[in-house]
Amino acid sequence: MIPERPLRAAILGATGAVGQRFIALLENHPWLEVARVAASERSAGKRYREACGWLLQTTMPARIGEMVVDDVYSPGGVDLAFSALNSEIAGEVELQWARSGVPVFSNARNHRMESDVPLMIPEINPEHLGLLQVQETSRGFPWPGFIVTNANCSSTFLAMALAPLHRAFGVEQVSVVTLQALSGAGYPGLSALDTTGNVIPFIGGEESKLETEPQKILGRFIGGAVEHAPMVISAQVNRVPVIDGHTESVAVRLSNAASLEDVRRVLQDFSGEPQAEGLPSAPSRPIVVLDDPDRPQPRLDADRERGMVTFVGGLRPCPVFDFKMTVLGHNTVRGAAGGSILNAELAVARGLLGGLS
Ligand code: NAP
Repeated sequence: MIPERPLRAAILGATGAVGQRFIALLENHPWLEVARVAASERSAGKRYREACGWLLQTTMPARIGEMVVDDVYSPGGVDLAFSALNSEIAGEVELQWARSGVPVFSNARNHRMESDVPLMIPEINPEHLGLLQVQETSRGFPWPGFIVTNANCSSTFLAMALAPLHRAFGVEQVSVVTLQALSGAGYPGLSALDTTGNVIPFIGGEESKLETEPQKILGRFIGGAVEHAPMVISAQVNRVPVIDGHTESVAVRLSNAASLEDVRRVLQDFSGEPQAEGLPSAPSRPIVVLDDPDRPQPRLDADRERGMVTFVGGLRPCPVFDFKMTVLGHNTVRGAAGGSILNAELAVARGLLGGLS
């Protein structure tokens, strides 16, 4: 289903690192347009260009720059909302918007692991949108109000790389060590004195997200519930002085034997509903396998393919697990705003949004 008019979107947390990506990615979007921008009381009442320290290399869209920033407490007036709010506030605010009948597509962690909330990567688990019927019954949100979440940025790329392997061979055990970009900490984020020329081997709450979210994403939707995939993941996370792009060193043990060539083939051939439907933000291939031994690299690869691809390189045998690989993705695009927009596009294509004339 293609909307006959652009659907009006609110961006909650529009001034932050992810909010700015939403603004940039929705400029000239064929189905969606930004109708409201909202942020904290520090920003509310100011023009967007005054409230926002614009971080991106693309120019701030002039129309958005002139919009007055709202607070986040007056839901409505739009067909859908994207949430790029801090987790301190996102949980309650997203519920308020959903309770007022607005579909909410969230980047925040608050509702991700709730049993009636889809944790979506459309190439992997489009059938999890079936949870919206459960949500409508259990929460009583007035239709089309609902909450759909996307994963933690590092979980997104890990789940994407594991999905074809799990389908083909079964994944039993995973070790992942991340090297995460500074933009993952939001804006203004961490201090330059802490991060310049340094590695910080701690990101609050991140390891547990990486150790639990992929199992829900890769889970089977049966009888109105998601049965989590039974794999075990051990994660270690690091913040590194990279601007954009999370790198992950991943080792995997499979249930069924596979050659490196088999692994390479299922990764490269992976495709899903966004590609079949030609959704506007879908990359032509969700996973790109790189054969040069020194790739992927965040500076060279994160922005390629509009930031929507998961790169896999360094496929090689592992003396402890079965094989190992390096995974990279753009944390504020596919790992946040771009992933959320793709979720909304899937919902539009399935006729799940109101306001369609
Ligand atoms: P950020 O740069 O700190 O931006 C946070 C946004 O929330 C700003 O617009 C801020 O508005 C607003 N906000 C903060 N406190 C608020 C309050 N009390 N009331 C209303 N609005 C408030 O954070 P971010 O990196 O964009 O992340 C946003 C969300 O996405 C977080 O939940 C994060 O975990 C998640 N996420 C981030 C990434 C990433 O790579 N950065 C990836 C995946 C998911 P003001 O400017 O007015 O303060």
